[in-house]
Amino acid sequence: CDMGQVDEGSFIRSYYADGFTAGDTASKMFLHEQRRRLPAFKHRMELLYAVEKYLAVVVVGEPGSGKSTQVPQFLYEAGWAAGGKVIVCTQPRRVAAAMLAHRVAEEMDVALGTTVGYSVRFSDVSSAENTRIKYMTDGTLMHECLADPMLSKYSVVVVDEAQDRSLDTDTLLALLKKIMKKRKGDFRVIISSASLDAERFRGYFETNDNTLAQPEHNTATILSISGRIFPVDIHYLTASCENYLVAATETATKIHISEGPGDILIFLPGKNEIEQAISTLNDQIDSSNNLDSLLPLAMYAGISAEKQKLVFDPPERGIRKAIFSTNVAETAVTIDGVVYVVDSGLVKRRIFDTDTNIDRLATLTISKSSAKQRAGRSGRTRPGKTYRLYTREAYLSSLFPEHEIPEICRVSLVPMVLMLKALGVSNLVRFDYLQPPPPELLSQALELLAELGAIDSGTGELTPKLGLHLAELPLSPELGVCLLNSVRTFDCAKEAISAVSMLAAGGDPFFVPGGQRSEALEDKRDFMVQEGDVLTFVNTHLAYLETPARMRVKWCNAHFLSHRMLDQSARIHRQLEAMLARMGYHNRIRSSCGRDYKSLQKCIASGLFANAARLDPSDGRRYRLIKNGLVVDIHPSSIFFAADCKPNYVVFAQVMETTKVYIRGISAVDPAWLSEIAPHYYSAKQSNT
Ligand code: ADP
Repeated sequence: CDMGQVDEGSFIRSYYADGFTAGDTASKMFLHEQRRRLPAFKHRMELLYAVEKYLAVVVVGEPGSGKSTQVPQFLYEAGWAAGGKVIVCTQPRRVAAAMLAHRVAEEMDVALGTTVGYSVRFSDVSSAENTRIKYMTDGTLMHECLADPMLSKYSVVVVDEAQDRSLDTDTLLALLKKIMKKRKGDFRVIISSASLDAERFRGYFETNDNTLAQPEHNTATILSISGRIFPVDIHYLTASCENYLVAATETATKIHISEGPGDILIFLPGKNEIEQAISTLNDQIDSSNNLDSLLPLAMYAGISAEKQKLVFDPPERGIRKAIFSTNVAETAVTIDGVVYVVDSGLVKRRIFDTDTNIDRLATLTISKSSAKQRAGRSGRTRPGKTYRLYTREAYLSSLFPEHEIPEICRVSLVPMVLMLKALGVSNLVRFDYLQPPPPELLSQALELLAELGAIDSGTGELTPKLGLHLAELPLSPELGVCLLNSVRTFDCAKEAISAVSMLAAGGDPFFVPGGQRSEALEDKRDFMVQEGDVLTFVNTHLAYLETPARMRVKWCNAHFLSHRMLDQSARIHRQLEAMLARMGYHNRIRSSCGRDYKSLQKCIASGLFANAARLDPSDGRRYRLIKNGLVVDIHPSSIFFAADCKPNYVVFAQVMETTKVYIRGISAVDPAWLSEIAPHYYSAKQSNT
């Protein structure tokens, strides 16, 4: 933009006061200096000008240039939160929302949850009165549209990490476009993206409606925050490796022994792989004199705040950090000090298979653009080196696709359909998407929602109670149906809320430490019930709730249970109870089935009926999905894994794919219940069995 043409005073609503008073500490000065050095800082005036002038601004810049942490602060300092309004910055990942809020609270020298806060599913660290900069997940903000369709308390929505193209981001962008048209002058959208998809976003928000744009201007523009990028040396394997976890730790130790200073960032697909690699590396460090100045650290969703701090804090003198991370460090969070990157070339992603109708978590090869982003993380502050744990030939082949396929084209669209329907969008085919979804995914979603009773197949609209309430719940529709049916039909709310809370918190609370396997399994047996994993989780959850709060950590340790997970499920339990009460079910939320597990099992099956499987009589170990005959294995964490006599029919909560397709969170069911609960579904599908 041409800054010469505008009067700064007309668009900067209040001036940002540079400099500190004498009482400021060295660490504040350090943070202040750090902020000033970020590429975003140089573009502050340009950004504020663009936001004043255009309704939508696409901000493009390398990861780490300050888009997520600085843009909301610039807006705040310029007065966009005046009059009690809130500036919101959305993230696809919960962990990033929380970390960014911590960082920005620290930079602004305020307590987290006051001026700066965050709100993600099941965790709200913000204040309705005081929070002016709020980090949220796209999904949480979208849910707010149900209560406040114009998002009236927000002045600016910064949609961060838009290049990720998560389903929630795409859905949110579509809603924001509608809101932008309706709210006209007092609302702004900033789309922040690390890649060159900027023109697509700009074009989408461009509008011909001349009541919106100032006559001489468009409604959307692009602003580039370019930072300096240093050259990165890329190394490939000469032959593909057999075990990438071994290769990852070996590469990290070789870098440590032979390369100059600088931290190492190692990309692995998921938490389990990260924990495994760290434990291997720790063993090597214990048995070698050359490695004692290497500090292995982990970075993934759900990591504790103390561990997060270790990742971001500069290491002690002479210590080199080896940070094992999921792709959260690819663009969403930036860890300073990284000079070496080790890239496994793998990522865990949700994919929906339209042939099998299964939405599952799979370990996949990354795209070439992801590989470039990962490599770029080594050249942020000086020339870097990246070690790819795959061959150049593999990288250049079609094994590594050019770009990631956006989620709207590859995952189950059930949550999106539910949300759009709840917001009154009746024609989903003609809806103005950033990129239209494939029709077969759309019809699959509508079909499942109709089968769950959330959509009236006659009118195509949400059913008045179940459908609308389902959209409000922060749960998958399947778990939402279990919950709502527990108060509507089965009178087992106490146990069903426990079941749903445990599954929403991640499921399995048991851990089996290597050295104490038999003790841990013995303890697990105390909670186990033959009806299955979900009822076992319910037992554990209820026993946890009955333990006095001050004893809980000790109790969990004594029983080899994850306190973190049980504490999370207890919080979810309270929230779900409160939501059900608000929906008018306050008289039913304490209902209990006692020892009559049958009604609870039926209730679980009423949500999960589409995930039913039958024991394969030919081998007595594996199961076949009723809907399509796919053969699946019981996950080793399930109580049925080692059982000699397995139930003939089960429903399950989760599918996971590694070398095999595993089912988890399993409950035994009577096949008669399935046809009783979902006759429409089972009369049609039974022919597949
Ligand atoms: P972008 O959004 O452009 O990727 P960010 O605003 O996330 O950039 O990061 C800008 C800088 O802020 C990073 O270089 C990093 O130094 C710092 N930073 C961001 N988050 C944290 C954190 N949680 N702890 C410490 N430093 C952080």
